[in-house]
Amino acid sequence: MKSRLLTTAASTILGATLLSGCTTTYNDGMETTTAVPAAAIPAGTGYFAADSTLPFHAPDFTKISEDDYIPAFEQGMAIQQAEVQAIIDNPAAPTFENTIVALEKSGRMLGRVATVFFALTGSNTTDRLDEINAEISPRLSAHGDSINLNPALFARVKAVYDNRAAMSMTVEDARLLEETYKGMAHAGALLTDAQREQVKAINTELSTITTEFGQTLRAATVENALIVDSADQLAGLSDAEISAAAKLAAEKGHEGKFAIALQNTTRHPQMPGMTDRDTREKLFWASYHRADNGGENDTRMMVARIAKLRAQKAALFGAPDWASYTMYDRMAKTPATALGFMEQMVPALATTQRREAAEINAMIAAEGKNFSVQPWDWNTYAEKIKADRYAFDESLVKPYFQIDNVLEKGVFYAANKLYGLRFEKRTDLPVYHPDVTTYTVFDRDGSELAIFYFDPYQRPSKRGGAWMSNFVDQSHMWGTKPVIYNVLNIAKAPDGEVQLVDFDNVETMFHEFGHALHGMFADQQYPSLSGTATARDFVEYPSQVNEMWATYPEVLQHYAQHYKTGETIPMELVEKIQAAAKFNQGYDFGEVVEAALLDMKWHALSPEQAAAIDTPEKVDEFERKSLKELGLEIDLVPPRYRSSFFNHIFSSPAGYSAGYYSYLWTEMLDKDSRKWFLDNGGLTRENGDHYRATVISRGGTMDYFDMFQKFAGRQPDVTPMLVSRGLVEEDAE
Ligand SMILES: [Zn+2]
Repeated sequence: MKSRLLTTAASTILGATLLSGCTTTYNDGMETTTAVPAAAIPAGTGYFAADSTLPFHAPDFTKISEDDYIPAFEQGMAIQQAEVQAIIDNPAAPTFENTIVALEKSGRMLGRVATVFFALTGSNTTDRLDEINAEISPRLSAHGDSINLNPALFARVKAVYDNRAAMSMTVEDARLLEETYKGMAHAGALLTDAQREQVKAINTELSTITTEFGQTLRAATVENALIVDSADQLAGLSDAEISAAAKLAAEKGHEGKFAIALQNTTRHPQMPGMTDRDTREKLFWASYHRADNGGENDTRMMVARIAKLRAQKAALFGAPDWASYTMYDRMAKTPATALGFMEQMVPALATTQRREAAEINAMIAAEGKNFSVQPWDWNTYAEKIKADRYAFDESLVKPYFQIDNVLEKGVFYAANKLYGLRFEKRTDLPVYHPDVTTYTVFDRDGSELAIFYFDPYQRPSKRGGAWMSNFVDQSHMWGTKPVIYNVLNIAKAPDGEVQLVDFDNVETMFHEFGHALHGMFADQQYPSLSGTATARDFVEYPSQVNEMWATYPEVLQHYAQHYKTGETIPMELVEKIQAAAKFNQGYDFGEVVEAALLDMKWHALSPEQAAAIDTPEKVDEFERKSLKELGLEIDLVPPRYRSSFFNHIFSSPAGYSAGYYSYLWTEMLDKDSRKWFLDNGGLTRENGDHYRATVISRGGTMDYFDMFQKFAGRQPDVTPMLVSRGLVEEDAE
């Protein structure tokens, strides 16, 4: 996912792409740019020096060799440096056009090489590409800093920004100016030299200590694998799992014993299936105390130190706490908003946790056992209750989902009904792997809207997960239309067999295509505000909304036919899938909310508050108090990650810190929007066109609350999310 220009090195270079030889016509009453002597900007050479001549400037993979990348990156950086220098050297007074727009236009060759290069390192890498990545990434990061922290450039940006009240600008111009200014300020452009030295020192220490946290945690996780003496203690696991445990124990020097490796999370996927309660308990404590047991892999003082350094760094930028500093470009904007949002969920969540615990205790009693539920029992019994109530077999569902039908008769069909889009498979565009297919996307008026690449299958050269990005960003400034790809990791069927998709991947296909729509409908002047270039706590919202159509009856009946019988999927099977999704939310949702709260609490500390947490015991105390005061049942449902093993937020200088709530926040927007669609007639062109006009064509050009208000006619509400997770009953309104 790209983010906006200048906030990170990667986005600096991903911001722009160029139509070669094109001259800008964008000059709406702005002062004319003083011409920069052409000789000042070096010319690039090789494939990436100019735009592809293929339709939509789609990359021509037949013409790119691995040896092209390093020289293209180097030239791209040199050209952007010269372009930035030309902005600085411009004798004319700073204007929006000669400074902000000129900066937006810089780095086109770099953008071109980076988009192709990073697409391939993700989805079809080689040893050589990995080597180039390791070599080039720190250089790109330094290149980004050299622009973001250039005082002469910032002086011009600031001059334009300070004069903004006197300028007449479009909404999008104003946004670009603000984002450029704030991005540079956030990087440290406003600091004094002395402050910048302090920030540098903090950054260095943060970088060291967060790396140390990550490494120590890895060691702690490996070290604390559970070792048991006999296979009986692992009763309930499959033979394959037990022999894997024997092998792992032998590798660890415990020949003849059995070892269960810990996972990243507090919970362990094998725990529910274990029938020996004593083993479950041991596994739980091994996981829970992996990094707070006082041994050499105890991370608690690192947590305290990281929290303090972040609070101190935020203070240098004039922010009260780290969360306030990092959330400047988010939809929620402040930690108070994010905390308030999560606290709203707590009463219903706590009630659900207590209700589910009571149900589990009733089942334990019914089995004639004499104990009450503990965290190591919870999911064992939850699975039993689930099997009783929602028995369905995933293998019964999968035959209804053939991949081509899911894509063309499901995903594309929904996009046709909602937005009037049409899709035509192409065979003329070069692809980077034979499994990739391409489509031209036609808009509601019949014009060509975008190119879509679909790369569905697992392979060793692809990293895990699923994602969307652009080969070419939509931009009116450059006259470019979007070229978009979706990458998934579906296991490929053996040759000659029908390619089926499990239900999770069906939802993922709709999800990633939701991102694709966000990119295709982009209608922006500037590439750095285009399409999915939106806030971290917003970008997953349109993609989640698109998942709703996977199980919408009219869509489902159109694509879900049994590959042998041709029979349409029975609605009761779908209802079972949906009902099961509401099950065990006191635990499944609870552990995530608790982790998100913990993240925000650590990052809403002032430097003084953070400094007071100066012993391992005080780290424990802070964690416990932060969660306990909310009234959640944390002794039964522990957070998904405890502070001492919260890798997302403590293993890199910023990482997902003060950002874990984003998963929940975007789900709130999603579920509330689904309600809007259903309240207004569901799958209709009118609804689709309205959503397109108000949200998914807007890129990052507007305040996100304003965007939601224009779409739904009100502010987002947490209730539909709580209803969809079964935490509260649907009300009768
Ligand atoms: Zn996504």
